[in-house]
Amino acid sequence: MTDSNTYAFALHGGAGVTPGRDYSAAEVHMRELALACERDLQAGAAALDIVTRAVEEMETSGLYVAGRGSAPNDAGYVELDASIMDGAKRQGGSIAAARDVMLPIRAARAVMEKSEHVMLTARGAERFCRHHGLEFVAEPDSYYRLPAGVVEEDLATANRAHGTVGAVALDHQGRLAAATSTGGIFGKSAGRLGDTPIIGAGTRADENVAVSCTELGEAFIPAGGAQDAASRVRYGSQPLDEAVEGLIADVGARDGDGGVIAVDREGRVSMHWNSPGMKRARGSSRVAVQTGVR
Ligand code: ASP
Repeated sequence: MTDSNTYAFALHGGAGVTPGRDYSAAEVHMRELALACERDLQAGAAALDIVTRAVEEMETSGLYVAGRGSAPNDAGYVELDASIMDGAKRQGGSIAAARDVMLPIRAARAVMEKSEHVMLTARGAERFCRHHGLEFVAEPDSYYRLPAGVVEEDLATANRAHGTVGAVALDHQGRLAAATSTGGIFGKSAGRLGDTPIIGAGTRADENVAVSCTELGEAFIPAGGAQDAASRVRYGSQPLDEAVEGLIADVGARDGDGGVIAVDREGRVSMHWNSPGMKRARGSSRVAVQTGVR
């Protein structure tokens, strides 16, 4: 595709919004991130770098259920999942159920760029990260913290305390990319994987669309996840909004809730959710940065 002035992006900080809770810190953070994405895309940054950096920032902030804000599983430790996809090259990488990797999305990108595999799990993922010099959390007990809007009781009740993060982008060269990272759902069984680390379920990018999903993996996976929305565009010729709404409707039909962000190659942005809210931001060459939670 030729150079143009078109760009677009969207970010999410999870669709697990509990009514009455304060998410202002996350919303302020997402606005700052969105302004940085806008500036960098205008300056010609690559979509893949935009989604990587945005997700890294959310992982280290401790404001979301990803990276620093991840909650322990039922065995008492954090397991991290992340995936990334470069739509222009149709390549993806992911890590799943990995412990104490400081920047899970950077690890997923390293799998994509430096291994011959698409997905590495658990001890194998950690070994790969050590081999490639990726940073590990030195003191897990003090590093991990409760994210914004989550209280201790949520750990026991799994009270909608989900806050996976994700980013999708289209750059000036027409390249699309998507990235998603999570600590999973609160109280999950050790070894449990949701949609997030699965290319095509939590994350998908090709030459038409980039998609990132959030919330209940157990509903998103059977619904077809991000690949379902991409296929609706590719084979069903559905407009982006219709495709994303169709996926959310299927998730809802499986008693699941959650949210989806997507951009297409024309620079359209779509964000839909069927939960009480989704921490989110968007921007494009057509529309100024917008943020929201509910
Ligand atoms: N999709 C994630 C999972 O099922 C959770 C979330 O997005 O909040 O692990």
